[in-house]
Amino acid sequence: MADLTQLSLTEALQGLQRGDFSSRELTQAYISRIQTLEPVIHAFITLDLEAALSKAVLADRLLSTNEENLPPFTGLPLAIKDVLCLEGVRCTCGSMILENFVPPYTATTVQRLLDAGVIPLGKTNTDEFAMGSSTENSAFGPTHNPWDVDRVPGGSSGGSAAAVAARMTPAALGTDTGGSVRQPCSFCGTTGIKPTYGRTSRYGLVAYGSSLDTVGVITRNVADTALLFQHIAGFDPLDATSAQEPVPTYTLPDSPDLKGLRIGVPEEYFIEGIQPEVEQAVKKAIQHMEGLGARAVPIHLPHTEYALPAYYIIAPAEASANLARYDGVRFGPRIGEGETLWEMFSETRGVLFGAEVKRRIMLGTYALSAGYYEAYYGKAQKVRALIKEDFIEAFKQVDLIAAPVAPSTAFKFGEHANDPLAMYLEDVFTLPASLAGIPGLAFPVGYDKNKLPVGMQLMGPHFSEPLLFNVGHAYQLASNWHKCWPEDELIKNTAFEKKEEIR
Ligand code: GLN
Repeated sequence: MADLTQLSLTEALQGLQRGDFSSRELTQAYISRIQTLEPVIHAFITLDLEAALSKAVLADRLLSTNEENLPPFTGLPLAIKDVLCLEGVRCTCGSMILENFVPPYTATTVQRLLDAGVIPLGKTNTDEFAMGSSTENSAFGPTHNPWDVDRVPGGSSGGSAAAVAARMTPAALGTDTGGSVRQPCSFCGTTGIKPTYGRTSRYGLVAYGSSLDTVGVITRNVADTALLFQHIAGFDPLDATSAQEPVPTYTLPDSPDLKGLRIGVPEEYFIEGIQPEVEQAVKKAIQHMEGLGARAVPIHLPHTEYALPAYYIIAPAEASANLARYDGVRFGPRIGEGETLWEMFSETRGVLFGAEVKRRIMLGTYALSAGYYEAYYGKAQKVRALIKEDFIEAFKQVDLIAAPVAPSTAFKFGEHANDPLAMYLEDVFTLPASLAGIPGLAFPVGYDKNKLPVGMQLMGPHFSEPLLFNVGHAYQLASNWHKCWPEDELIKNTAFEKKEEIR
């Protein structure tokens, strides 16, 4: 039988439904790949492969009934970022403070996929509490980029993106607070959506920056993204900021026609310091879209440069409050008894949180403290309003905005690890959409000279996911970047050669 892991999610579902192969065969194909590549890629924190196979056998029983109304994803394996709760399976958030935390409930987005019939393969690696852009902040060790195992896969959903790129899963759930779906997609050549804030439920997503957190999907192409996203989007009474807006059916065009589409090209996203090959690939993709009938319109988003400082006040401020609950009393282990309660708190948190998380807690606490609140947090909120205003103004002139996802392709391990500012700069193009709460679709549009993928993002007004999917799909109908994957030989040879060295 052909290698079933070559199939896209949509093709795999069709094959399952037609009876071309069983869920057990499909799931086993992914398990075999995981067993071969996981020692090198390290995309997962927790694997649940035996349970996955048993569920596949059950799914096959359902599929063999040929019933009309089977859940749409019956028998489809899938990976889940380890910040989303799945009842009974430990959820670490990439942190020692939650090393053995087994949630007693399931996140709404995960539950919706379980109800639709998916089979969880495991929980994917992430920067600790989703704080980071490389997975180097994971307490369980970093994930390696399948295109070049000496490089990071991006972050924080790096485990999810690497697992999809290495074909260890057909798709994965990720989360995006400031770029964590889009940037790993860019680094790993995968396609993914960071939705409008409130479009996907945050219930059961371990909170980082509550006013920014979103749940998205990472797949191999736009059609798969739209199909999977259809099932996780929508109102949830369990999340107070969930949007009431109904979810339309995401139908995609069957021809690559972009006639009449106005694409904004923001000058502020093509700045000095951006890797020239990234700029070239993204501009070429825009030209390609013009060839399909779209019109590129130069625009300005004048407050773009303030997004980074504003985000790195707001996100840590919210994180410092959200992470106060990990105190050695209610979750996770306790370190030392201490003389006083405060000593026990500080010892537990001091030992079990990683350096970046502690940095954010300190930054955030400072920004929120009496006397500084207005100067930092208050000001950052005002900047956030200006950034949102920039987008509102731009969308009066254009239908959507095209830009690079990140200023560079995947960087090497350690390149930014000791320089937090350099790491934060990786997020310069993803943070504005996060602050504005608008959606962003990331997909591959080229390679750099090292054959590393380059990603582009399309940003649209609130709830414009259908338009983003349409345009992204039209581009993919007329291009092949989403069909390029790291060659097996490349992953295996380089990986096994370097394995000793890097792990
Ligand atoms: N890199 C950004 C940060 O560290 C974004 C992370 C995310 O989206 N979760 O905060």
